[in-house]
Amino acid sequence: MLRFSEINVTDRCCLCGSADDLTGEHKIKATTLRSLFGNETMMIGHFNGTSRPRLAQSATSKAVHFRVRLCGPCNSTRTQAADVEFARFDDLARRLQCEGADPASAFDDPRYAVGSAAYLNVFRYLAKLLACHIAEVGGPRLRALTDFALSRSDMNVVRLSINADPDFQRWFEATGDPQFAGHGGLGIDFSRSTRRPKAIYTSLSHGPLRYRFSVAFGFGVALALRLLHPEFYQRSLASFEAALGVERGSNLT
Ligand SMILES: [Zn+2]
Repeated sequence: MLRFSEINVTDRCCLCGSADDLTGEHKIKATTLRSLFGNETMMIGHFNGTSRPRLAQSATSKAVHFRVRLCGPCNSTRTQAADVEFARFDDLARRLQCEGADPASAFDDPRYAVGSAAYLNVFRYLAKLLACHIAEVGGPRLRALTDFALSRSDMNVVRLSINADPDFQRWFEATGDPQFAGHGGLGIDFSRSTRRPKAIYTSLSHGPLRYRFSVAFGFGVALALRLLHPEFYQRSLASFEAALGVERGSNLT
């Protein structure tokens, strides 16, 4: 039987499930943080208006790492090409934005022709980040997502939009400080009429540039989430309903 998802266990790699040679993964790449902040101290956190950012002493500080772990091979050979490609793509997108162009037009570069290895690698990096964010809040390992992140599948399940970060603009207007990086935490989008989960999303901000990315799923995975990962499902639904500002109903059965 096809396994949509597997339970993430603490002290196991959140991409492949191995218990060997576990290492940490950055929420935002250390090289990117250095290019944005130099050697200055940083505030890092969710820019959701409620949680308090944490002070990070450097680009390698614990505060910029996920608590969940990756095994050595998943954090190196299996994802290295994607890491390198994303950094290259990010340089191009940031440069375009700086010049007043649409940063998403980086995909017009022939290198990033749809389906090319470079194109897929940009998305594989985001798939890895998304899988780490899901594991970080006790969610399952979604095989379609992790197999893609590890190049075991070429089926791109990540949706991406690239635009100017409105939080950056607010931050810059309030502080005059152009040094800004953040991640959006994890959100799950449910259907308002059926309460069926539709997508899991997060975001990544590099200065004024924001990547919003998600994995969307159909009925099968939505059902697997509800039946096989009920705690995660119900916590997510409660958080969605709280965000909607509605009373939690009796439609969880
Ligand atoms: Zn692994």
